[in-house]
Amino acid sequence: MSRRISRLSLSALLTLSLLSAQSSADAVRGAEDATPPALTGHFPAANSYAVALSAQPTFTLSEPVSVPADAVRLSRFGAAVAVTVSYDPTSRRVTLTPLAALRPNTSYTVGYDSSIVDAAGNRLLDGSYSFVTQLSVTLAAGSHTGYQFSRYGSGNTIIGSRQLTLSADGSLLAARRVSVTGRGVFFEVQSGRLAGYLLAETPRSYVAGIVGRTTYSPARSVAVPVGRYTGYRFSADFRTVSTTKPFTAVVPTSARADRGAVVNGTFYLHVRNGPLADHYLRATARTAARDNPPLPACKVGDVLTSPRRYADTAATLLDLWHLIPRSYSPPDLVPGANAGIRYGVYGKVRLRRLIVPDLRALNNAARAAGFGSLIVNSAYRSYATQASWWMNRVRIDGYAVAIKYTNRPGHSEHQLGTTLDINVYARRGLNAWMAANAWKFGFIKSYPANSRATTCYGAENWHYRWFGRSVASHIHQSRIVSREWLWFARH
Ligand SMILES: [Zn+2]
Repeated sequence: MSRRISRLSLSALLTLSLLSAQSSADAVRGAEDATPPALTGHFPAANSYAVALSAQPTFTLSEPVSVPADAVRLSRFGAAVAVTVSYDPTSRRVTLTPLAALRPNTSYTVGYDSSIVDAAGNRLLDGSYSFVTQLSVTLAAGSHTGYQFSRYGSGNTIIGSRQLTLSADGSLLAARRVSVTGRGVFFEVQSGRLAGYLLAETPRSYVAGIVGRTTYSPARSVAVPVGRYTGYRFSADFRTVSTTKPFTAVVPTSARADRGAVVNGTFYLHVRNGPLADHYLRATARTAARDNPPLPACKVGDVLTSPRRYADTAATLLDLWHLIPRSYSPPDLVPGANAGIRYGVYGKVRLRRLIVPDLRALNNAARAAGFGSLIVNSAYRSYATQASWWMNRVRIDGYAVAIKYTNRPGHSEHQLGTTLDINVYARRGLNAWMAANAWKFGFIKSYPANSRATTCYGAENWHYRWFGRSVASHIHQSRIVSREWLWFARH
């Protein structure tokens, strides 16, 4: 509560100083007020979490306005929430008072629109801000232990603990769910005896309903050894089981899971195919190894990759082991300039026509962001070109060094005609911008930092491969490297 009071007084001070600035500006302009009103502050802060269930959202305006009753709304998942709206002309503050307490663990949005006008009729721009409320954690009767850890990351140690014993089922409020490396998922407790401690998420202390939803894209393979299983379906709010389906595996089998979620404190996988299709299966160490077949080790080899038709370019896996043949030379190569990019110190480059629209859009976005046209140092490289690069590196550095940094012919993504070496260091900030935005246009960085164990190569911030926007967005959301994604997608 004290935090909220100080926030309000701060915004009151802000309002006062803005008021004096505004009056002198008004005096100069006289009746010719052309400045629309704007928000000078709001509570809760945008995208804040752990907002109290008793909170009354407020926002403050830069000048006196009139506020029609329906100009301000509070909504939850797009549905209106009943509030009374009041406007205090002295402080120019709008306050939303919900008629019922806010729900826990819920995202709310405050919206305001252009029917809010100043004395001269200038309109506020439509806008909104969102926040998430505290979690309500359900507790089973009995003993619970809260912990304090030195940190959440690896190498953490327990620095404190406290016991809570309940004679009946109860609940407490928490700020959020956090993962503590090597120890599992915990709630940051904010109320009662365990306030300031972390409480483990278990079937005895959980957020009722469904939390921690994750989509697996591509779907993951779930091992189902011989044994008896139960598939679950839940009520619409996930608080109760609605139907169950028994299944006995008489031989070891497997299934595909397209998402995972914690339901009432237990981790489940959502099965997509087979006898338990469209049911949730409890994930345990025995039943549901949530792993896909392991990536091949970083071994040197020459196995023809599959698929490898020109139409399959976004699904073609190339690495130390897998290659495309000498004859692979896409028929639709065009000058890179067709996409509006610039050439680097090595001169002209060619690339496949099918990536031109996305590359042009990426280039335009980079220009709009102030980075100028992208400089492409290398794109399509033929088998013969790669062979001469490779032999050159071996001659200069020796095989042991060359194999770490240069692909042997047939193994380079550049032979696909869809891969670009972009000078991400041409402008300050471009490297970070590309890392944050290239996927939106269908391009993925093949060899990110700290990924040598999965990519088999050191970081190459400049090396982007086109997958198309849909696949690139899947790879981006799955937070795995493209080699892993390509491997999982076909296994
Ligand atoms: Zn490259």
